[in-house]
Amino acid sequence: MNIVDIIIKKKNKQELTKEEIDFVIENYVNEEIKDYQMSSLLMAIVLNGMNLNETYYLTDAMLRSGEQINFDAIDNLVDKHSTGGVGDKTSLIVAPLVATTNVKVAKLSGKGLGHTGGTIDKLESIENFNVNLSEEEFIEDVNKVGMAISSSTKNLVVADKKMYALRDVTGTVQSIPLIASSIMSKKIAAGTKKIVIDLKVGNGALMKDIKSAEQLASYMIAIGKKYNAKVICVLSNMNQPLGCAVGNSLEIEEVMDVLQNKGPQDITELSLIISSLMVSLGSNMLPKEAYKLMEENLKNGNALSKFKEFVANQNGNIDSIKISDKTESITSVKDGYIKSIDTLKLGNLCRDLKAGRKTKEDIIDYTVGMKIFKKVGDYVKTGDELIKIFYNEVNIPKEEVLNCIEIGNKVEKEPLIYKIIGDLND
Ligand code: URA
Repeated sequence: MNIVDIIIKKKNKQELTKEEIDFVIENYVNEEIKDYQMSSLLMAIVLNGMNLNETYYLTDAMLRSGEQINFDAIDNLVDKHSTGGVGDKTSLIVAPLVATTNVKVAKLSGKGLGHTGGTIDKLESIENFNVNLSEEEFIEDVNKVGMAISSSTKNLVVADKKMYALRDVTGTVQSIPLIASSIMSKKIAAGTKKIVIDLKVGNGALMKDIKSAEQLASYMIAIGKKYNAKVICVLSNMNQPLGCAVGNSLEIEEVMDVLQNKGPQDITELSLIISSLMVSLGSNMLPKEAYKLMEENLKNGNALSKFKEFVANQNGNIDSIKISDKTESITSVKDGYIKSIDTLKLGNLCRDLKAGRKTKEDIIDYTVGMKIFKKVGDYVKTGDELIKIFYNEVNIPKEEVLNCIEIGNKVEKEPLIYKIIGDLND
């Protein structure tokens, strides 16, 4: 077998066999296939796609490229994954909500790269928080607290680490088969069989339209079935930041607000829906009953207590959160309705403030970010505060921030959730 023939085959829109896909992944991991050859194949996949069979073979080959975790020692385990967005701190709200029941969450998370944030970075903004649990500590914590969140200590899906870094710098992230295989190989390797995926759709997400998001969902659900894993996809709106806060400490502060039932409405509602689906997957409760329970446990402070217990259990000091006191307000220069928000640009501007990284080596400033006070469809007057920037070492041009918000004639508010795909009773 020869990598050049395989690249040409995909360039000619032909289907790759299991043997060819295994050959590519094995030889890319052992460095026989070079980055320039892999990037050429990845681009052919971006342009010509892969059918479901090919995507499954790719997922399976990637899964076999690393170790796998066994969570048999944990009962009623569910997992949650987000395809990435701006201001998306949902995991930190849904995990404690779910853990107020007998359903448990063992979540392996990553750092952010690009315009989207990562759960591990948000947790690292809490002084002393330990994101490097050993497998034994992880299992022990989940059984004790009902939840734990950690970076992986095992070498899971080695192929994805190499491929994702290459995709990030070769314009090959945006591809349904590549995203489906990347996410599903990691989820299956992480040992959970019940997964709710928050599939973001919109100008701040990987999937820009509902049709592509539906196709990605159908691939992930079908691949899950091959491993006996139940996957539910929530297609949620990313045409505007989720909640108000973007930036690590700011997002932890907002998580605490939501858990005290005084957070923004959109992130609160999305968290209640996702957590109720997770509880329903992990128990035999109906989603409607689970929603009521989640609402109750948010309002009565149980979820907040669980979050504090989780932080303390992983050595974090929740009172340590620091937010920069250097701020700048962006105000509206006209009257009108918020027509659109360039979410991707806002995410990138937050990264420029050092709330995120441009390269893996960059050091994050946890204290910086933005609060975006308005949503699409809101009416604003000249002088109203639209955004507050929290900066430190570097600031960003005010006009660029203001340009992210388009003000004009009346428009409808954006829906929070487009649809939920996947059957709880499958
Ligand atoms: N998230 C992933 O883990 N992989 C992708 O390819 C895209 C989003």
